[in-house]
Amino acid sequence: MRHRENMQRVDVAIVGGGPAGTSAAIAAAERGADAIVIEKGVPRSDRDRLGPDSTDAAGFLDYWVDIADIDVEALPEDVILREIDGADFVGPNEHVAIDRTGLPSSYDGFGFTFDRTRLDDHLRDRAEQMGAEYRVGTAVRSVETDLTGTPEHTLRLADGSEIVSSQLILADGPQRQVTIPVLDQYLPADRQASSVMNPRSANHIAYQEYREFPEEVFDPSRLSFWWGWMPGETAYPWIFPNAGSVARIGLTMPIGMDIGDVSDRDAYRLLKPEDERFPTGRVLVRRMLDELYGDEYDVETDFPVLESGHGKSDGTETYPISSTKPIDSPTDANIAVVGGAMGTTSAFHEGGDHVAIRTGKIAGRLAATDSLDRYNRSWKEAIGEEVRRNVAMASIVEAYTPADWDHVFRTVRDILSYRDGGSMIDFSSVRTGFDALSLLTRYEWRRFLQRGDRCAMIQESTYSVR
Ligand SMILES: Cc1cc2nc3c(=O)[nH]c(=O)nc-3n(C[C@H](O)[C@H](O)[C@H](O)COP(=O)(O)OP(=O)(O)OC[C@H]3O[C@@H](n4cnc5c(N)ncnc54)[C@H](O)[C@@H]3O)c2cc1C
Repeated sequence: MRHRENMQRVDVAIVGGGPAGTSAAIAAAERGADAIVIEKGVPRSDRDRLGPDSTDAAGFLDYWVDIADIDVEALPEDVILREIDGADFVGPNEHVAIDRTGLPSSYDGFGFTFDRTRLDDHLRDRAEQMGAEYRVGTAVRSVETDLTGTPEHTLRLADGSEIVSSQLILADGPQRQVTIPVLDQYLPADRQASSVMNPRSANHIAYQEYREFPEEVFDPSRLSFWWGWMPGETAYPWIFPNAGSVARIGLTMPIGMDIGDVSDRDAYRLLKPEDERFPTGRVLVRRMLDELYGDEYDVETDFPVLESGHGKSDGTETYPISSTKPIDSPTDANIAVVGGAMGTTSAFHEGGDHVAIRTGKIAGRLAATDSLDRYNRSWKEAIGEEVRRNVAMASIVEAYTPADWDHVFRTVRDILSYRDGGSMIDFSSVRTGFDALSLLTRYEWRRFLQRGDRCAMIQESTYSVR
């Protein structure tokens, strides 16, 4: 190959420096590979240096620790913010409180909330300590792959430099600006990633605020979710306790939803008859706080948004979020897609950091040993069950109305009143009652449909690399 100015040759090039990318870099560097992460850099008011995007409600459930394969004890002290005892699911008129996931876990507790910026910084620092390079402040513009002989990838960066690598890990998150054009080269015209994973048609938008709560209404040990309060598939608000009496309050909503298409508008507590268009995230959050606390508090004064030092800017953050199923990677070209870019953020959108870290680790390890051909099998072994659970649950609740949510929460509360063991996340051990049975049947059937390779939206066999 002719020598080019500003060209750097490495074993493993990683696009995107979030948890998936840095986990890949750590795993590759640990095995002696020369690895580089390229992160375009997103300014945040809670970080001094330029780093990855880091938008997150940042909750972690007990069994996710095992899926992520992380040692929580080894994390720096300031990463974990709160130990969590349980979660509250609130429908328009019913609610249920859950204090166990019921899934096997080595973590003692329901879960925790964490500081995503610090977690990302920690993972970046570790990658650098292991010898990987973390280049931040310039985006990857394009990738060209030469498939004559051993695959060779040339990454062109916005600053004019180039990286050449034999292994490529795509960790550019759910916007997939690099991933989609790379994959499209290997996909048939009717299965183009730009169509089936098009961010414009597949994504939700997440909006989040950091607000100080009055101490008397701040619950430091519970996660709260409101389902059936706003329309849209898997669209819901949440409150997650942060440090002090600060909470992250946010929601996901489908992009471009037309309020004229919402049937039974009156049933949604966050919509108003005078709405001419779908309210913004900011308006919906404000309305929710008003619904919850407006009788006794002045929300803007008593629950102030923390405008400095929190979030991306002015105490808020937005992020487009994937709602696709996961995809296989074209490993014949020595390419692995990991984390949000491969759709592991799918379904219940918040369920992402554990699978991002794990898929990143797997890809990094395999890339370092020139064995990415095992990647598609390996990620299914590691996270297939979790993906199937999320995809199945999302497909069940897809068409739920506010009344359906009330019904489910009432049913689960009834079941909990006479059960004290087993799983509440996947309902798999529910045995009694007509309602419970119908829930179980629908869930298991869909889970069956997602078995094996079918949990991937683009399967390995669909790629044509050579
Ligand atoms: C509002 C919200 C709440 C969430 N809550 C939770 C939660 O409670 N628990 C949980 O586990 N998960 C949660 N998630 C999901 C979690 O954030 C994702 O699963 C996780 O960020 C995926 O990690 P990633 O590394 O794959 O992608 P990302 O974190 O998205 O990182 C991708 C990185 O790639 C960079 N990049 C993109 N394009 C380029 C380019 N061309 N060149 C260079 N760099 C590029 C971006 O700047 C970004 O930093 C939440 C997500 C959102 C948006």
